[in-house]
Amino acid sequence: MSIDEELVRQRGALLENIPVVTFHAEVAPLFRMVYVSPQLETLFGIPVASVKDEDERLIELIHVDDHARLRDEVFFQLSQGDSYVIEFRLLTPNGPRWVRLHAGRVRNTEGEVRLHQGVIIDIGEHRAIEEALLAAKQEAERLSEAKTRFLSIISHELRTPLHAILGFGRVLERGAYGSLNERQLTYLDDLLQAGEHMRRLIDDLLDLQRVSEGRDQLQPQVQPLAPLVRDALRMIRQLAAERGQALVEDVPDELPEVIVDARALVQIVTNLVTNAIKYPSSGGRIELRARASGGVVVVDIEDDGAGIAPEDQARIFEYFSQVDERVPHRLRGSGLGLALTRALVERLGGSIMLDSKPGRGSIFRFTLPAATGAMAQPDAAGGI
Ligand code: ADP
Repeated sequence: MSIDEELVRQRGALLENIPVVTFHAEVAPLFRMVYVSPQLETLFGIPVASVKDEDERLIELIHVDDHARLRDEVFFQLSQGDSYVIEFRLLTPNGPRWVRLHAGRVRNTEGEVRLHQGVIIDIGEHRAIEEALLAAKQEAERLSEAKTRFLSIISHELRTPLHAILGFGRVLERGAYGSLNERQLTYLDDLLQAGEHMRRLIDDLLDLQRVSEGRDQLQPQVQPLAPLVRDALRMIRQLAAERGQALVEDVPDELPEVIVDARALVQIVTNLVTNAIKYPSSGGRIELRARASGGVVVVDIEDDGAGIAPEDQARIFEYFSQVDERVPHRLRGSGLGLALTRALVERLGGSIMLDSKPGRGSIFRFTLPAATGAMAQPDAAGGI
């Protein structure tokens, strides 16, 4: 046997040992299998003899729902080029099985097309995993939409009666319908405070919904960061002073400008710095630093307080995650502050992370798109 003949024989043996079906079919005048490899039987349990030479049997091996697509696609693909790839269900004795067909026309030396050749690969498992993943994703999306709808209904339904409670409470407090005794005033004050807390919670929830669904009216503009940070800090210096904390700001004036919505930025800084003031149990120092890095400006808010335990760090940006029960009620927030902060940072095209060691304080770090080079395009700010 010549080396060429030996090679052909070996190649044939090799093809019959890999887990795919190979075939050659005549296309004219009728589609007729001239060779089908034995894997049709070993992989799919379909006897080779049952398909060879019998063109009608072939169509019976294909799931009826795939007939039209297969016919159209083969026709379309062949009018576009010499090869095609199609997925369909093969009807095996064990039930339908998804396969992928890679096939094409073969031209002889005269350039005529007499044969098709190709391979059939079993993608049943692949397809089952894909379908399970898709179903899980659709279910997660459905749940997330239901949650969003639920939260927004609750927020609106609670807001209206609460408005009335607070309004009438204030009328009573002013003594508009007669003066109240001291005890009545104390209870009324408690009632109004609890009502205010609830109103903040609902407002935060509504804000969070708006931002995460992109229904907010953010207007990112190219502007310097320092004046915005100073605006935010001006409002909270009093709180830091009351708690005996030093609030240090280091935002160099020569920093590149950033692409931000002013109101959102002030809210982000206010939330993070207020937390840094509220939560560290031991007075101390809070520092806000900014620097440029690549196409972004990085802002760090560092405190030297109690820090956050590693097991709490992952959930701290979730809804209603309050990990420190020792905080006085007066200062307690809604547990939505960080969720809203993260949503705002992401809407501005940045990201936020936390680096914290219990007992050594925390650094909340967020980035903002800088108005330099490619990042100067408004589109780069997260498609706002
Ligand atoms: P809240 O409205 O309760 O302030 P946040 O979402 O802003 O909610 O914060 C969630 C929780 O993360 C807080 O209840 C607090 O336990 C913890 N936390 C946030 N910032 C800090 C910080 N700088 N140091 C320690 N703990 C913090």
